[in-house]
Amino acid sequence: MKNETSNYKLVLGLEIHLHINTEKKMFCGCSAHIHDAAPNTHTCPVCLGLPGALPVPNYDAVKKTQLLGLATNCTLNQNSKFDRKHYFYPDLSKGYQISQYEEPLCENGYIELSNGEKALIARIHLEEDTAKSVHENGETLLDFNMAGMPLVEIVTEPCFTDVKDAVEFSKKIQDLVKHIGIGDVNMEKGQMRLEANISLRTPEMERNDDLPNYKVEVKNINSFRFMEKAVLYEIERQSELLLNGEKVIQENRGWDDHKGVTKSQRSKEEAHDYRYFPEPDIPPMAFDEAHIEELRSILPELPDEIRKRLIMQYEISENNAEYLSVYPGLALLEKFEEICTHNIEPNKVANLLLNKQDYKELTVDEFVKRYEDEAQKVDDAGELSQHVEKVLAENPDAVEKIKSGKEAVYKFLIGMVMRETKGKADAETVENLLREKLR
Ligand code: ZN
Ligand code: MN
Repeated sequence: MKNETSNYKLVLGLEIHLHINTEKKMFCGCSAHIHDAAPNTHTCPVCLGLPGALPVPNYDAVKKTQLLGLATNCTLNQNSKFDRKHYFYPDLSKGYQISQYEEPLCENGYIELSNGEKALIARIHLEEDTAKSVHENGETLLDFNMAGMPLVEIVTEPCFTDVKDAVEFSKKIQDLVKHIGIGDVNMEKGQMRLEANISLRTPEMERNDDLPNYKVEVKNINSFRFMEKAVLYEIERQSELLLNGEKVIQENRGWDDHKGVTKSQRSKEEAHDYRYFPEPDIPPMAFDEAHIEELRSILPELPDEIRKRLIMQYEISENNAEYLSVYPGLALLEKFEEICTHNIEPNKVANLLLNKQDYKELTVDEFVKRYEDEAQKVDDAGELSQHVEKVLAENPDAVEKIKSGKEAVYKFLIGMVMRETKGKADAETVENLLREKLR
């Protein structure tokens, strides 16, 4: 992107939606295992939004959302409730979504980024997903399998000034969700969706910490790469408008990857009123300290904690610690720690586990045996080398002859080394060693 003319600074906040892996949907008894299921096979009066159907919250989803809150340094609200968020859309048959407005489950958290800064989380709340519209041959079909799936929404502060940080944050959230085992967050399956709220401000506004009076929401982004492209595109589009003295319209836009542009979806000029009010069919929730402490006790050691501990305890490199502490490396962590009890230098263990495919696949016992065998070979090679040196030192005449071109004398020297090692050495290895030393 070429933007020499523009000094505008990016103001970026994220909304991340993700599915929680529960057995049942959010407010009904329908199975939540909807992937690969035929359309509309996981439905009931509640998730179809039929009048009079009573929602009952899924406690497992509540607990897992709270675990995510703890893992992201949030405060868990002791009082929380569900609210109705009203809007009209074909995939929302009730005319409202059960979500949380005031009193979300979790508030005021953060995730530490690699640049040492904290990405601030305003809130994490729980809601239900909507149905899916399928556009086919000029018709729109609705699949209600997705309707009522437990959906967590993470809302950050508009704290990102670089899209790279926002991407890192999103990836960390994805890893964290897998790490604590509350979701699969597969973006291709729609289990994690990104939304970027993008606006620009002048350097002076940035200095004064003033926020712009508009934001453009790019909705339903299903890959980290698309998010980066969409934000960069918006920086360019909005800069141009602002430079021309025009106003940036507050609206929803979508990323069109084929054209490489964002497109307007619906204007938000007339401030959208969702007419939130407390969901009358679900009693408010209350959580005591004991509940929160119990959740804290079942939370696994988190990636940042693991990374810091590995560096302290094993003195391994930052890089190795980083790999072992995040989701894809996590399966190796246990193996790593067990192998380290066998008195092998931890950095060597980490290097072999992380860089050598053949070592990665071994069991702990196999790893240790293989490592010791390799070390033995190195020892043997060292010992053999000493025997060769000794034979060369004791037979200066033979060395002279070889140097003057009498190749046949090698046989004599090999024989002498074999005698030294009592026949245990490999003749070919001995010959190679001799030739190396006489080169
Ligand atoms: Zn249902
Ligand atoms: Mn939402």
